[in-house]
Amino acid sequence: MSKQITITIDGAAAVGKSTLAELLSEELHYLYLDTGVMYRAATWGALDQHIEITDEVSVSELTERLPLIITPPTQNDGRQCTVLVGEQDITWEIRSAMVEKYVSLVSSYPRVRAALTEQQRTMAQHGAIIMAGRDIGTVVLPKADLKIFMVASAEKRAERRYDELIAKGKTVNYDEILAAIQERDRQDTEKPISPLVPAKDAVLIDTDQLNIEEVLAEMCDLVDKLVEAG
Ligand code: C5P
Repeated sequence: MSKQITITIDGAAAVGKSTLAELLSEELHYLYLDTGVMYRAATWGALDQHIEITDEVSVSELTERLPLIITPPTQNDGRQCTVLVGEQDITWEIRSAMVEKYVSLVSSYPRVRAALTEQQRTMAQHGAIIMAGRDIGTVVLPKADLKIFMVASAEKRAERRYDELIAKGKTVNYDEILAAIQERDRQDTEKPISPLVPAKDAVLIDTDQLNIEEVLAEMCDLVDKLVEAG
């Protein structure tokens, strides 16, 4: 069996991390963890329990005791994973506009980050995992074997998100999508802790001019070189 490595994929909102991480995990037969769902689940939990999102202590305490479970998809409805809080399936709830609105604020709370970072490190301890997020290469797994940082302009990301939603039959407005992406970029990069920055040893992949297959090929190439080098 070839050497099994730990791979981190970081990058801004809607840059394509989930799509690529999922494809790469199928290619390599690795586990894939999208850490964004954990911050979304914490935000959903606070909203569900009518906790003021600005009440940092209560949101942090809730996150620390949230019975969060992430499993491979349990239903064939387009989900990449199943997200459970206790026995409640919140896989789609965490994609709501309300969660989207508050998730950056919740993820700026140090105790929330500490609790989720600890769980992420536990999940990565056996290797053979691709973990995607914002701070995985810099904070969560700074010793990962391969760190990838994906970049694309806000306009390109908004265009892709727009096409994706139109294909799903949704009525959407490009300018609103672009504004939401730019706002999340601002919050993610200006966060005082774990801001969105590439790790010093990350490989940057600019996807503006590349399609999914080309990005995947580049990632597979990086993995092959690393595994061959032993
Ligand atoms: O990746 P996704 O857009 O689902 O992430 C939702 C939010 O969770 C991000 O906007 C970011 O604020 C936060 N996040 C984070 N650190 C991570 C993953 C996500 O702060 N590792």
